[in-house]
Parts: sequence; C-alpha cells; structure tokens
Amino acid sequence: MKKGRRNRQHAKLARLRRHLEISLDLLKPRRIRTRSARYAAALAEQLGLITRPKCCAWCRRRLRLERHHWNYDEPLSVTYLCGDCHEIADSMVCGAGIA
Ligand SMILES: [Zn+2]
Repeated sequence: MKKGRRNRQHAKLARLRRHLEISLDLLKPRRIRTRSARYAAALAEQLGLITRPKCCAWCRRRLRLERHHWNYDEPLSVTYLCGDCHEIADSMVCGAGIA
C-alpha cells in the first residue's frame, strides 16, 4: 500500500519533468508548450510543490481560483486568481503582446 503511493508520486514527478521539458522546448508548437506548462503547474500543485492559497491573490475574495501563467517559459510560476481577476490579468498579458 505504502509502496504503491510512493510509486504514484514518482510517476507524477516523472510526468511533471516530461511536461516541463516539453513546455520549454522551443521546437514544439506554441499550443503544445502552453498545454504542457498548464499541465506541469497542475501536477506541481498535486505534488505539493505549489501551494494553492485560500483566496484570490489580488482581490482576496474566497472564490474558485484559477492558475494564471504570466509567462509560459516559467511553467511553475503561477498566480492564483479568481475568474474576474484572471480576466484582467489575461487582458494585461495580451496588451503586452506576450500572451
Ligand atoms: Zn480576484
């Protein structure tokens, strides 16, 4: 039982590493890289490498939070925002031309 859990954790780590590699592989199409970056962040959260806060990082409301990537070249650098703030953040990134 214990061994099984450790193997699952290890499998997740291996998957995380693979998606990190894909997300940073400049030869891959952008949509593949962004998808892997999102997946890597989700895995990192499951593994406890990233901690999900109780409330939105911007407005501090306790709503359902979404992970916002400022830059997909940093897959594990995310900000937890509510839906409203996430929309604002996305429009900021679009405006900067790096979305
Ligand atoms: Zn918010």
